[in-house]
Amino acid sequence: MQLLDGKKTATEIKLEVAEEINRIKAKGGKIPHLVAVLVGNNGASITYVNAKIAACEKVGMLSTIVRLNDTVTEKELLEEVDRLNKDDEIDGFIVQLPLPKHISDKKVTEAISPSKDVDGFHPWNIGKMMLNLPTFLPATPYGILQLIERYNIETNGKHCVVVGRSSIVGSPISNLMSRNSYPGNCTVTLTHSRTVNLKDITLSADILIVALGKPEFITADMVREGVVVFDVGITRKADKSKKSGYKLYGDVDFEGVSEKASFITPVPGGVGPMTIVSLLKNTLLAAKGK
Ligand code: NDP
Repeated sequence: MQLLDGKKTATEIKLEVAEEINRIKAKGGKIPHLVAVLVGNNGASITYVNAKIAACEKVGMLSTIVRLNDTVTEKELLEEVDRLNKDDEIDGFIVQLPLPKHISDKKVTEAISPSKDVDGFHPWNIGKMMLNLPTFLPATPYGILQLIERYNIETNGKHCVVVGRSSIVGSPISNLMSRNSYPGNCTVTLTHSRTVNLKDITLSADILIVALGKPEFITADMVREGVVVFDVGITRKADKSKKSGYKLYGDVDFEGVSEKASFITPVPGGVGPMTIVSLLKNTLLAAKGK
């Protein structure tokens, strides 16, 4: 078994992004600037946003957090999005999801200018992705593609099984893995909570991408020898022995499944860091696009 080391790969990519930013600086160009809008006090969201901002700082990118109280109205948030859309100083921005219940994720996502939508969630960018046109790819699927490339994983003609059909992970990665390109050219099966006999399907996977949010759901008896596994899931469980007060779990029982897998991502240190680095790459792309 070989570990798909997202932490190490993300560090390498960050160095490449930093070099590119240094070249922009040397030419007197504008330094890319990412803004993260954070609404409320969700612990996981705060951690994710802080990690994104720290990554920007590491590569020499400008970054700003816009923090809004969870009492902010939908109208006020949409006004903030409009302000960021119009601000030429800002190359790309994200609105960290989930939003409080009184605000529509959909309305906010659709209000973001597609040219600044570095999360790649806007319907315009999703449509371009579906047509294989250049665009911002959603950060987590993009991170998985980069891991596949960097580890030279064969995808041509393989059976790729995706568990979970969210619009930010499962659906886009299933589309990307079926594209006529590398990575791609897989025969893809997209599964979800209504799938019957899931185990029969996962047992025939050459590549298994799991994003359902149920800790250690995929067990060794559900996979075959030699499978390549991408574990997207991140669930926090309280753990007093940890400094942070919690432990992170993936959707895959790493201990059992890694005995059979040819390649596997750990949690933490797998897909998570690749998601962050993809956001940096998208921000660089947004800045260049100007
Ligand atoms: P969602 O929570 O939006 O959706 C979960 C999906 O899993 C749904 O499509 C659901 O099916 C499906 N599902 C639920 N139960 C089963 C089951 N028993 N069998 C098969 N499918 C099932 O997914 P997200 O993609 O937003 O998140 C998934 C996980 O990935 C979470 O742990 C999240 O924290 C993590 N995540 C990690 C990221 C990273 O950077 N590493 C980035 C984004 C998410 P249905 O549609 O029928 O309800």
